[in-house]
Amino acid sequence: MGAQPKITRKPIKKRVKYCPICLSELTIVKGIYGWLVPEEYECPVCGYRGPIGLEKEQ
Ligand SMILES: [Zn+2]
Repeated sequence: MGAQPKITRKPIKKRVKYCPICLSELTIVKGIYGWLVPEEYECPVCGYRGPIGLEKEQ
């Protein structure tokens, strides 16, 4: 029995966007046409929906 190579998976950093109105975390909304349209974001708190999402530096 040989030693099996270890596969280490690095966690992918998720880019989180925040609502420009209430600064809550936004949900990414994918358009009907998929990659043909720019990403849209939706705020579950205040109902904002649009292409603008704020990025916070950690
Ligand atoms: Zn909001």
